[in-house]
Amino acid sequence: MKNYIAALDQGTTSSRCILFDGSGRMVASHQLEHRQIYPQPGWVEHDPREIWQRCDEVIRGALKKAGASGDQVAAVGITNQRETTVVWNPKTGDAYGNAIVWQDMRTSPRVEKLIAAGGKDQLREKTGLPLAAYFSGTKMEWILDNRSGVREAAAKGEAVFGTIDSYVSWWLSGGPEGGVHITDPTNASRTLLMNIADLTWDDDLLKLFGIPRTMLPEIKPSLPAEPYGVTRKDGPFGAEVPIAGILGDQQAALFGQACFDSGESKNTYGTGCFLLMNTGEELVHSSHGLITTVAYHTGGQKPRYALEGSVAIAGSLVQWMRDNLGLIRNSSEIEELANSVEDSGDVYFVPAFSGLYAPHWRSDARGIIAGLTGYATAGHLARAVLESTAFQTREIVDAMVSDSGLEIRDLRVDGGMVVNETLMQFQSDILNIPVIRPEFTETTALGAAYAAGLATGFWADRRELINHWKEDCRWTPAMAQVDRDHRLKYWAKALERSKGWVEDE
Ligand code: ADP
Repeated sequence: MKNYIAALDQGTTSSRCILFDGSGRMVASHQLEHRQIYPQPGWVEHDPREIWQRCDEVIRGALKKAGASGDQVAAVGITNQRETTVVWNPKTGDAYGNAIVWQDMRTSPRVEKLIAAGGKDQLREKTGLPLAAYFSGTKMEWILDNRSGVREAAAKGEAVFGTIDSYVSWWLSGGPEGGVHITDPTNASRTLLMNIADLTWDDDLLKLFGIPRTMLPEIKPSLPAEPYGVTRKDGPFGAEVPIAGILGDQQAALFGQACFDSGESKNTYGTGCFLLMNTGEELVHSSHGLITTVAYHTGGQKPRYALEGSVAIAGSLVQWMRDNLGLIRNSSEIEELANSVEDSGDVYFVPAFSGLYAPHWRSDARGIIAGLTGYATAGHLARAVLESTAFQTREIVDAMVSDSGLEIRDLRVDGGMVVNETLMQFQSDILNIPVIRPEFTETTALGAAYAAGLATGFWADRRELINHWKEDCRWTPAMAQVDRDHRLKYWAKALERSKGWVEDE
C-alpha cells in the first residue's frame, strides 16, 4: 500500500528526509550534516558529491526508522537551500568543483560594477530581484569564467548548471542513466535569469551573464501535472517513487504553513528571519526593497507570487548576547532573564551590525543601544534584544502591506525562536494581530510533502491540507494602543540614531 509521502529537505547545513502519513503526521525522520568549506574569506562551498551521499543516506535512514519500504511511498517532494549553484557533467555525474553556496560573496565586485553602471534595481522589473551576489546568476558566470574547461565542456553537452533541487532530482531520477534536468519556478526565480511573469529563461539576462541556455534545466511547475520522473529501483528508495514536487526552502515553509491564499503570511525565526506573504496571482513589485518571488506554481494554473523580506539579525543577536556579552549560557536562557523584569524599561537595541537592510537600506548605520539609564539591568537588555526581532518584523510587515495593499490578518510562525513565548506575545502586541504557531513546526519539509502529495492526488485538495494543519498556540494582542504607539515611536527614534554613524574619512 502507498501510505507515505517523503520529503527530502536539502538545507545549508544538513540534509533530512521525513516520511509523512496520510494525515500529514511525521512518521520518521533522518538527518545528517555536511561540511561547510571556506576556501577564502567570504567564500562558502559545499561538496556536491557529499550532498548527494547525505541525501541518499537520509532517505535510507528514514525508511529504516519507519520500518517501511520504498514501495509504500506514494511520492517524494524536494525542498532545498536556495541559490546555491552546482555545475556537473551529465554523462558522468562528476561536478566541476564545489557548489557555490548562497552566502558566498565572491561575486560582490562584479555585482558592484553592474550596480555602478545601471543601479541596484535594473533587473527588478523582469526578475523581481535587486542585484545581489546571493543569487545564482553571477555565481554561474563566475564558474564559466574561472573554472577551466567548463565552457568547452558545455559546448559538448558535458557541463550543466543547476540549483540544489536540480542536482538532487537529477541524481534521484537516475543520474547519468536518464536523470531528468529540471527545476521549478520558486528556485528559478532566485537566479536573476528567469522572467518572473512568464516563468521562462530570458535571453537578455542569459546574455548579460553569458550563460548558454543549453546548460540550464527545464523549468517545470512546483506541483507538476505529471511527476518529473521516478526514482530508480537501485537507488535509496529501492523502488520507483514518483518525484512530484519542488519548492525552495522559504516557499516550502509558506506552503507547509498552509498559506495558500493571498494575504496569508509566515515568518521563520532563525539566526535571521524570513517573512513571506502570499500575494496570489498578482505580481507585486516592491517600492521598499522587498523581493518579489514565485510562491508556487501548480501545473495548468497561473503561478502564485509572494513578497519576501528578511531580517538579517534576529536569533543571532541572542547568540551575540551569549557569546560576546556572556550574559546567558545558552539561547533559551534569554527568556528567563527577560522575564526578570516587567518590560524593556524603554531600552531599545538596533542591531545594525552591518547596516540596515529592508526597508531602510542604510549601509552607513551601525548598532546602538538607546535609552539607557542607571535603572537598566541585564534583564532590560534581554528584553530589548528579543523586542528588536519583533520591531524589525513589524517593519517588514508594514512594507508588505503598503506594497501589496493586502491586509495581513494573522502571522504564522516557525523556526528556532518560536519556543520563546515572551517574544511571541510581544510580536503579537507590536503587530496588533494574532501570532500562530502550528503543532508541527518543521514546515519546510511539510511544504515539500504537501506539494508532492497534492500533485499526485495522495491528498485530494488544499482543503484537506488546511484540515491537517493544526494550530498549537495562538498569541493575541494584549497591549494598549497608546503603549504600542509609544514603543513604535521610540523604536523609530532609535533607528534614526543608528543611521549615518559610519562616515567616509
Ligand atoms: P537556523 O535555521 O537559522 O540555523 P534555527 O531555526 O535553528 O536557525 O534557530 C536558531 C536560532 O534561534 C539561534 O540564533 C538561537 O539563538 C535562537 N534561539 C534558540 N532558542 C531560543 C530561545 N528560547 N529564545 C530566543 N532565541 C532562541
